[in-house]
Amino acid sequence: MSNIKFLPFALPDIGDEEINEVAHALRSGWVTTGPKTKQFETDFTAFLGDSTLESIAVNSATSGLHLALEAVGVGIGDEVIVPTYTFTATAEIVRYLGATPVMVDVDPLTFNMTAESFLSAITDKTKAVVPVHFAGLACDMDSIIDVAKKHNIKIIEDAAHALPTRYKGRLIGTLDTDITVFSFYANKTMTTGEGGMVVTRNQELAKRCKVMRLHGISRDAFDRYTSTKPAWFYEVIAPGFKYNMPDIAAAIGIHQLRRLPSFQEKREQMASIYFDAFKDLPLDMPASAKENDSHAWHLFPVKIKSEAGIERARFIEKMAELGIGCSVHFIPLHLHPYWRETYSLTPEMFPVAQQIFEQEVSLPLYTKMTYDDQKRVIEAVKQVLLDV
Ligand SMILES: *Cc1c(COP(=O)(O)O)cnc(C)c1O
Repeated sequence: MSNIKFLPFALPDIGDEEINEVAHALRSGWVTTGPKTKQFETDFTAFLGDSTLESIAVNSATSGLHLALEAVGVGIGDEVIVPTYTFTATAEIVRYLGATPVMVDVDPLTFNMTAESFLSAITDKTKAVVPVHFAGLACDMDSIIDVAKKHNIKIIEDAAHALPTRYKGRLIGTLDTDITVFSFYANKTMTTGEGGMVVTRNQELAKRCKVMRLHGISRDAFDRYTSTKPAWFYEVIAPGFKYNMPDIAAAIGIHQLRRLPSFQEKREQMASIYFDAFKDLPLDMPASAKENDSHAWHLFPVKIKSEAGIERARFIEKMAELGIGCSVHFIPLHLHPYWRETYSLTPEMFPVAQQIFEQEVSLPLYTKMTYDDQKRVIEAVKQVLLDV
C-alpha cells in the first residue's frame, strides 16, 4: 500500500494555455484588474449565451454573494432564507449585512432547498432567498421563482457548484432571478485559484455591484467628469469593498472557460461510470438530472445505506487506507457551533438534512483523474463495502 500514490479528493486541471496567459499578464506589467478581466467577463457572458446579461468578475463567490445581497438592499433586520445543507459562505454573507439567515430543510433526493420549505419560512421580514444548486443539480427553480414573486422576495442563486448546469434547457445564470453567483475556487468545476462571477440582467443591480466591488468608486461620476477633470479624479459614493478580480486570475479563467465543455463531458462520463459500477452496492446514488436539465457533477455525493453495516467515518478512514481521498458535503449549518448557538438550531428542525449528513460521502470526481484512477476508486469502494 505504501507504494500506491494517494489520490486526493480534488485537484485543479491547469494546462499550458492557462500558465502562458498568466505569464503574459505578469510580463505585461498589468497584474490587477484590467484587459484580461474585461475579456473574461465578456467571454463569460458569451458562454452563457445571453447578451442581455452582465458578468462581473470578483475575487470569490463569497464576495460576489455579499455584493449581490447588498445590491438588492438586504440590511439590518431583514431575513434571508438559505438551505442548511450548504457551505457556510451562503449564510455568512447575510450576517455581513446585519441581517438574519433563516435555515430551511432540503429535499431527500436532490439535497436542494424546496419551494415548500422556502414558503414555510417566509415572514414579513423576508427580503431574499439564496437557493444553492447542490453538487451541480438545479433546484426546482420554477416553483421557487413562483413563490418569490408572489411574496416580493429577491432571488440570489448560489451557483458555486452549477457551472454549467441546465434547468429546463436553460443554463443556470440565465433564469428569471435577480442575481446568480458562480465560484472559481480551486476545487470547483473551473478555477481561477480564487474567484467568482456575479451575473445579472438588471442594469441597476449590475451598476451597484460594480461600484461596491471597488471601494464605492462611481464610474458614472467618473465618466461625467473625465472630459473636464484630470485623470487622477474620482468620487466615492459609498463605503465599498475590495472585491475585484486581478488579471493574473482572469488569465487562468479565460482558458478554463474555453475548456469547460470538455471538462463537463468528462465529468458526465465519470458520473455514468460510477452509476454503472455501484448499481449493486448498498449505496444511495445521487439524483441525476431530469430531461432537459443537466448536472455539472461538481460533486459525486453518495449515501451509505444502513444495511452496508459501516459508518460513514469508518468508510472514509478505510478509503484513505486504500489511498483514496473522500470528503463530506456538507456538515450542515445547523451543526456548526456559531450557527447552532446564535440561532438555537437543533437537528430535529432539519430531519432530512440531518439524515443525509449522517450517511453522505463525496467520492473523488475531477477531470485530472484518469479512468485508471477512477477504477481504483471503484475497486476501493467495493472492497470497503464488501469487506465488512
Ligand atoms: C465554494 C462555495 C462557496 C464559496 O465560494 P468561494 O469562491 O470560495 O467564495 C459558496 N457556496 C457554496 C455552496 C460553495 O460550495
